Formats: sequence, C-alpha cells, structure tokens
Amino acid sequence: MPHTADHDTLALPGAAPIKLWTHGVPVEDAARAQLIHTARLPIIYKHLAVMPDVHLGKGSTIGSVIPTLGAIIPAAVGVDIGCGMMAVRTTLDAADLPDKLHGLRSAIEKAVPHGRDMTRGKRDHGSWGKPPASVDAAWKRLQPGFRRLVEQAPRLEKTNNHAHLGTLGTGNHFIEVCLDEAGRVWFMLHSGSRGVGNAIGRHYIELAQTDMRQHIANLPDRDLAYFTEGAQHFDDYVEAVGWAQDFARANRELMMAHLIDAARHVIKKPFTADQQAVNCHHNYVQKETHFGREVFITRKGAVSAQAGQLGIIPGSMGAASYIVRGKGNPESFCSCSHGAGRVMSRTAARKQFTVDDQVRATAGVECRKDAEVIDEIPMAYKDIDAVMAAQDALVEVVHTLKQVVCVKG
Ligand code: 5GP
Ligand code: MN
Ligand code: MN
Repeated sequence: MPHTADHDTLALPGAAPIKLWTHGVPVEDAARAQLIHTARLPIIYKHLAVMPDVHLGKGSTIGSVIPTLGAIIPAAVGVDIGCGMMAVRTTLDAADLPDKLHGLRSAIEKAVPHGRDMTRGKRDHGSWGKPPASVDAAWKRLQPGFRRLVEQAPRLEKTNNHAHLGTLGTGNHFIEVCLDEAGRVWFMLHSGSRGVGNAIGRHYIELAQTDMRQHIANLPDRDLAYFTEGAQHFDDYVEAVGWAQDFARANRELMMAHLIDAARHVIKKPFTADQQAVNCHHNYVQKETHFGREVFITRKGAVSAQAGQLGIIPGSMGAASYIVRGKGNPESFCSCSHGAGRVMSRTAARKQFTVDDQVRATAGVECRKDAEVIDEIPMAYKDIDAVMAAQDALVEVVHTLKQVVCVKG
C-alpha cells in the first residue's frame, strides 16, 4: 500500500479508494473486507476514511467515515443514532474529592437511571422514581418533532421515548469522574438516543431494504441498502435521524446536569462545572461541505475534527481518555477516532478473561468488578496510545484524562 505522510491508501479496481490512519494498530481482515464492500457502492464520494479504532460492525465498519453523494445508508448510521460523548471540566482539584470514592459513585448511580432493569416502557424512571422537571422541559421541546416522526412511521408511537430521556443505558455506556494532567476534576459520559433512536434506526433500515428489494442482490450486504435523495423515505429519514441526534445530545446534557447535582451533595466544596464543555456525536450523519461539494458524512464510530474543534476520544475502563482539538485534515473529512476500538468480541473477551483480570486491569478505579462487565475489560480494546499516535495528523491532545470513578450501565 502506498504510504503518504500520514495515511495508507488501498486502491482496488471498481471501488473508491480507502484511506487508513491505522499505522501501528491492528486491523482485522474481516474489517478490511467490509471496508472494501462499502467502497464498491456507487454512492461513495471520493474515498472512505478509516480511523485507527476501526473494527468490524454491522453492514459497515466501526471507526469509518463514509461520505455519500445524494444518498444515505441508514444501517451505517446504525441503531444507536447520535451515540456520543460529553465532558466538562470542573473547578475542583483531586484533593477536593472524598477519600473514599464509593459514596460518589453511589450518588451518581442513584441520580442517573442505568442498566437493564430500568423502565421498560414505564413513564417513571423505574426504581429511580419520577423524572426531574428538567426531563419534562427537554421532552416538551423534543415532542413536536417526535409527533411528526410518528405521522411518517406510526409504529414509533410505542417506543420508550420520553421514559428514556436522561438515562444512560447498558453495556459500553458509562459515566466517569476523571482527573486531567493538572489534577483537575472532570465529569465525562457516553450515551446516545436510547430506545427511541433504536426504534427509528430499525424502522428506516428495514424500509431501505424493502425499497431496494430489486437491487439488494447486487449489494454485498443487505445492511448497505441506502435511500436516494429525491425519494420520500430519504426526506423522512433525514428528519428522523436529525431528531434522534437532538434527543441524544439532550440526553447527555440532562444526565450531566443530574450527575453534577448529585456530586454537589457528596463533594462539600462549592464548584462550577461548565468549563470547556464538549458534547460530540460519534454515530451520526449530517450534510457537510468537503472538497467544495455538499455531501452527507456518516461517521460510524468517528468524531468531527474540524480545525480548532474539541472532541473526546475515550480509552477503556482502565486506560486514559483524551480531549482533543481537530486539525481539520481534509483527507479524513475532518474526522478522528471515537475511542480505542475493540480488539476482540464480547464473547471472546468473556472466554479469555476472569474477574481477577478485570480487578487487576481496573486497579485504582472505583467501578464494577464483576463477571457481567468482563466483556468491557480494558484488554478487549486496542492500546489507546497506539491509536492516538496513528491519528497525529488528525488531532492534537489538549487534555489527558484518567478515571477514578467509572459507572457502567
Ligand atoms: P462504542 O461507542 O463503540 O461502544 O465505544 C466507544 C469507545 O469507548 C470504545 O472504543 C472504547 O475505546 C471506549 N470505552 C469503552 N468503555 C469505556 C469506559 O468504561 N471508559 C472509558 N473512558 N472509555 C471506554
Ligand atoms: Mn451507544
Ligand atoms: Mn458509542
């Protein structure tokens, strides 16, 4: 593969070029094959951009930037529409945190609904009680848009829409209390559009597959089915995905506000926590201008890194995370990675590691250390430092964060 200053290019006949910022990090063969499938679609604009956290996804590859002309692939955006990260720096120092962090972790866990047994369609927040007024106010703003979506797709009516606003979810979604390189306290969290985004994603993925029934045989994967500009379903999807992305952003803002309130009860020293706030999606699509043309950019596990723009690249339950500033690298469509990326599946991680391994790998972090989080063990992810080195041409590091508390869904 030819290697230019900062990336490799994979050029195959009948496919758009694939540009990879993956120097020094592992890339599975299966992910490479999947990238080639996507690059063969006739709707790809210029080239695919591949971030160092790249790994196999459903239909298309996580850690990739997919620019499309006059079309969108709903399964590339995925079902966790608007999933992303939010971080705020506080005025607190490490010494202001309580010696025992368990109380702070419990306070956060009590303030933000999370986990599997939460809600399931109930209007209250399950064992968390009634949602705070801030959730109702946010829903009031989101509701008119939701009503319009339901007119297009009545089955969306029955989703956990309002009930999931201000809730974390399960699995890889998390809330952390971190310290930066100067010992300053940050709050950081990861979540998306929850049940309602999932329902919207699934509805439109199915619709795209139905619409493309005649052509689906020519697609290397059903999950590469796309809507074409000019079609009614295209416009409906653009509206729906935009709404779900707003929901996800609001969801993160609400949780951040609630966890800060909870922290105020545990941390006795008064503080503010609105400095350098960053709230960025990493699963989304939006219209952007690149190389002089308006195109749709789908970031599937990737973050916008326009020149000067702040973003968040998390590591794992036991590794550092980074606040970064974009360099506006045009070849990457101004993007960077959304994390370290998995090196193994959840099943493989559960087979390979024990609770003892998890305890060792998360030493010094106040977090869950039980059998159910083994699939989130730091060793299931790539080495974040190698991932950062591979994208030196895309972002610069502004802050290095290390968690002291990690709440997992
Ligand atoms: P995804 O959105 O693809 O599920 O995950 C995004 C990234 O978050 C992963 O690639 C991984 O690097 C990072 N990550 C997963 N779990 C944790 C965690 O508990 N804490 C931190 N700081 N990062 C995590
Ligand atoms: Mn998510
Ligand atoms: Mn995510």
